[in-house]
Amino acid sequence: MGKKKREFVLVLGAHSDDFVIGAGGTIAEYSREGKRVLCVVFSYGELSHPWMKKEEVVKIREEEAHKAGKVLGCRVKYFGLKDQGVYEDYKNKGIENKLLELIKKNKPTKVFTHSIEDPHPDHRAVHKITKEIYAQISGKKPELYVYSIWNPVSIKTSWPKMYVDITKSFSKKLKALKEYPSQRFQAIYPLMVFVFWRAFKNGLKIRKRMAETFYRVK
Ligand SMILES: [Zn+2]
Repeated sequence: MGKKKREFVLVLGAHSDDFVIGAGGTIAEYSREGKRVLCVVFSYGELSHPWMKKEEVVKIREEEAHKAGKVLGCRVKYFGLKDQGVYEDYKNKGIENKLLELIKKNKPTKVFTHSIEDPHPDHRAVHKITKEIYAQISGKKPELYVYSIWNPVSIKTSWPKMYVDITKSFSKKLKALKEYPSQRFQAIYPLMVFVFWRAFKNGLKIRKRMAETFYRVK
């Protein structure tokens, strides 16, 4: 029993803050339970601040993501693919093999990714990438979950829903979000309110103070 390998959980996201918004509380919970969590960020987010030099934005956002990962207790891996060209860049740079190797080596029990109903093209690209890589996993397949960023997680599907009680880790999620000062001018404050409201609303469904919701699609 004691020798059992630590469970590995993989979270895939397009941008540096997606894993925090979509699953930050759950990541912190899993980490607290002793699971190993790795968050993969596909895009550098270099288009987010058009008035700054590309290299600066890239560096800042990568640092922010690593700091947020520290708060949540997960590791963060950057693939640095082009904004709005994530899928093509992923194919051209041979990232697919890297990702498959990573999955083969670590054998995740759960994989989290963007929802197909997410309107953002980069988020959709990561969803597509996940589906393709999932099909290539041989042997026992991990459970596959989708999270949502701005869109509500599907209302019209019959996928099983998973609620995770994040009452204890909710403050960590907020703290992790505050590690993204470069985002402040865009959406960070309305985002906080939104994140709070959604966690509260999900919590009501399972009679907890705060919760995150996912759909299990595989
Ligand atoms: Zn995003």
